[in-house]
Amino acid sequence: MKLVLATSNKGKLREITELCNEYEVVPYTDLIEAFEIIEDADTFKENALIKARAVYQALDNENVIVLADDSGISVEVLNGAPGVYSARYGGTNATDKDNLYKLIDALKAKGVKSSPAYYTAAIAIVSKNAERTVHGWMHGDVIDEARGEGGFGYDPMFVPAGYKQTVAELSSKIKKNLSHRSQALGLAKKILKTL
Ligand code: IMP
Repeated sequence: MKLVLATSNKGKLREITELCNEYEVVPYTDLIEAFEIIEDADTFKENALIKARAVYQALDNENVIVLADDSGISVEVLNGAPGVYSARYGGTNATDKDNLYKLIDALKAKGVKSSPAYYTAAIAIVSKNAERTVHGWMHGDVIDEARGEGGFGYDPMFVPAGYKQTVAELSSKIKKNLSHRSQALGLAKKILKTL
């Protein structure tokens, strides 16, 4: 079955392709030109649906299944920020590095070296007959420095519960076992089997 991903985020593409290796996974930008999708909802779930619906409509092909991931990090000491604004935390055109160092600076401004935090991934699946959403979470702590080269986004400052290293220092196999995205995709795959 062909699964079209409603994302051009390289980190997400890499992880979803690896985690869904039983499917033919294709980024939508391999099929049509990239276009801007305004993710203006208050929840990961609604933003994932906005992306999946927009790509499904633009493809105009009843035979495809579109999968979208909307995700981010919520930090306790920042009352849940950046949350759904994770991709834009450092500004509209912020890079992953801009966002990472902005979050490190925000922790420092609070005068803390670490804070409990969690990643959320909402996955939306849109096909001719169905619209479904599932979620996954990964809990741990964010720290006030960046360590490691693996993963993407906020991974260099995120230490999963039960570990001492950041996700960027741990192997991709460990992230695969633990991550919010893996948990959500595990549920998404059960739905895909029914479509
Ligand atoms: P989205 O593409 O609008 O869903 O934005 C997701 C934001 O959360 C981006 O800033 C990502 O870097 C960040 N993010 C989501 N998942 C992860 C992850 O697994 N590791 C690190 N950062 C992530």
